[in-house]
Amino acid sequence: MLGAMKRPSRIDRLPEQYFMRLLARVQEVAAQAGEPLVDLGRGNPDVPPPAHVIEALVESAREQTVQVHGYAPFSGLPALRSALAERYAAHYGVDLDPEREVAVVPGTKSALVELVLCLAERGDTVLLPDPYYPDYPSGVALAGAELGLLPLDPERGYAPRFDLVQRENVAAVFLNYPSNPTAAAVRDGVFEDAIAFAHETGAAVIHDFAYGDLVFDGRKPSSFLAEPGAREVGVELFSMSKSFGMAGWRLGFVVGNAELVERMSTLQDHVSAGIFVPIQQAGIAALTGSQETVAERVALYERRRDRVLAAVGEYAAPCEGAFYVWIRLPDGVTPERLLEEQRLVVAPGEGFGPAGSGWARLSLATPDELIDAGLERLCAALETVKA
Ligand code: PMP
Repeated sequence: MLGAMKRPSRIDRLPEQYFMRLLARVQEVAAQAGEPLVDLGRGNPDVPPPAHVIEALVESAREQTVQVHGYAPFSGLPALRSALAERYAAHYGVDLDPEREVAVVPGTKSALVELVLCLAERGDTVLLPDPYYPDYPSGVALAGAELGLLPLDPERGYAPRFDLVQRENVAAVFLNYPSNPTAAAVRDGVFEDAIAFAHETGAAVIHDFAYGDLVFDGRKPSSFLAEPGAREVGVELFSMSKSFGMAGWRLGFVVGNAELVERMSTLQDHVSAGIFVPIQQAGIAALTGSQETVAERVALYERRRDRVLAAVGEYAAPCEGAFYVWIRLPDGVTPERLLEEQRLVVAPGEGFGPAGSGWARLSLATPDELIDAGLERLCAALETVKA
């Protein structure tokens, strides 16, 4: 009987899942009479993976063998780990040992939680950049650790203010460049400061590189691990979701510090059982094949970024990468009013931490026509509060 079931406190410590709540509200409003909603709230890539990647998946799946359809090696195919290491060398100037410094994970979202479980417990603090990606607090809650905020300085490209945070019992610090939601690329000195902070406090650094390849205006992707000393103190998360449009496939990596990679692999050995081999084969094809589509993706998001900035640039933070525009809403314009009155969905800034209050995130992972329709509605709302 359900009433008699024990309910451990860790379940109640989990925050309400931000995107689930947003989706529920959107569905509620969509069901009411009115124009169809325009949704610029979701960060779900609208361009599918390259054809050769889909081909590799299908070809592998056709092989009716236990090697393909049975349990996959828990630590991932060695060829996939090598392919990722080759990509790191070629694109980010980082040499990785595919045996000791690369863990294959089913998308990086679960790794965000598992890494915290590998690092923190009750009494520890985990620092999150403010604003932060709303899935970061989940692992902190499950670990029973305290959530601390690392302020980002909007005047200095959203660089972290390590000078403002506590130094005792910090188990880990998250960084995320290019950033969701601010779209800032990393500034010189940020990774160096993070490594110094880690040495001073004993904190591990977790750099979320999910949007690593998506940088604009001729910038080069900038891996945390390219910074001298980085792998002594931390790891980086690399995702196939954004670079290759493979969000639904669930494939990613944790790379860097060998001890932490080993802890992650051990935890994964207990909670999961490998990733479907055709997905891994397709991952190899994506990592080692033509990278033209990555550049095309970047160019597409950059064009969309320009469209958005042309319309609402005066409200926007500089958009240097990822696929979002972070905008400050003037008094009188709220995400809820945009939803109800303009039937426009944006991601409310509040869910990204205290610094998100009064801000909203627009997604560029949306077809051009919808972006244009959304901008029209947004501009109509902004007009109503202009003097
Ligand atoms: N980090 C950030 C900043 C993200 O925006 C996302 C997905 N939206 C993830 C991690 C997780 O990506 P995935 O699980 O698809 O690798």
